[in-house]
Amino acid sequence: MKVFIVLATLAVSAFAQTPCDNIRTRSQWGSRSTSLTWMPTQPPTGFAVHHTAGARCTTQAACDTQMRNIQNFHINSNGWADIGYNFCVGDPGQIYEGRGYGRQGAHAPGFNQRALGHCFFGDHSSVNPTAAALSNTQAFINCARDRGFLSAGHWVSTHRGDRQSNTACPGQALQNQVATWPRFVAQP
Ligand SMILES: [Zn+2]
Repeated sequence: MKVFIVLATLAVSAFAQTPCDNIRTRSQWGSRSTSLTWMPTQPPTGFAVHHTAGARCTTQAACDTQMRNIQNFHINSNGWADIGYNFCVGDPGQIYEGRGYGRQGAHAPGFNQRALGHCFFGDHSSVNPTAAALSNTQAFINCARDRGFLSAGHWVSTHRGDRQSNTACPGQALQNQVATWPRFVAQP
C-alpha cells in the first residue's frame, strides 16, 4: 500500500507541472461574488499583459490581499462588474484567477472581447518582475492554449498594443520582456 501511495504521488506530481494546475482560485484568495459575461468568441485569440503600477507582493498572503484590494477598487471606484483582469501574478509566480478563462474583462477596450488580460503586480517601468513571475506566465500561456482556453494561433501583446488605449502600461521594463516572447505582436 505504501508503494502504491508513493507511486500515485509521483504520478500526480508528474502531471501537475504547469501553472494551469496550480491557479490560486477566486475562493482561495477571497473574491467577492460577481456576475460575469462570456467573451463573444471562444476561445479568445490573444493574451495581453499589464502591470498594476501599484504595490508588489512577495508572499501568497500579501498577493491574496492585493487581489481583494484591486477587486474592491475596480468595483467600488471604477464601477466595473469585477476585477478588470482575467488573471494576475505576483513575485512568487503563482497565477491568480481574476475573471478567469473565457470571461470578458475590463482591461483594454480593444482587447476585452478577444484577449485574456493578465496583470503583474507592481510598477514595472524600470524594474522587471521576478524570474518566477515571468517564466510562469509564459508557461501559463502555453498550458492555457494546450487546454483550449486560448486559440491555437493566438497572439501575445501588452496594453500598449491596444490602439484604443493611450498608456505606458505595462511599463518599459516589462514591455521589453514581453517583446521577446513567442507570438508577440506589437499591435494585434
Ligand atoms: Zn494595462
